[in-house]
Amino acid sequence: MLIVHPSSVCDVCLEPYGWEEQARTPHAIPCGHIFCYSCLQLTTPSNCPLCRKAFLPQRIKKIHVDRFNGAIDDSSSPVCGSLTKRAKVHDR
Ligand SMILES: [Zn+2]
Ligand SMILES: [Zn+2]
Repeated sequence: MLIVHPSSVCDVCLEPYGWEEQARTPHAIPCGHIFCYSCLQLTTPSNCPLCRKAFLPQRIKKIHVDRFNGAIDDSSSPVCGSLTKRAKVHDR
């Protein structure tokens, strides 16, 4: 199981991963190590920067992360719902 925490950094460039830009998204290679997309593209020949195992650049797998840990789902929040309703005040 591959897990990346939102605070994880790439072991090559030591930059935190990002999800807005393709180049900053974490990708896994067959040996199980994870690096950002741009570092994997820049690695020539294609050997894992950590364990030197060869990988196919076409075969890297993008990692999906639940980066907001559910906090983004505010449509189902009962607190938000009731606040919105209460904001609509009849003034006549
Ligand atoms: Zn990197
Ligand atoms: Zn590796």
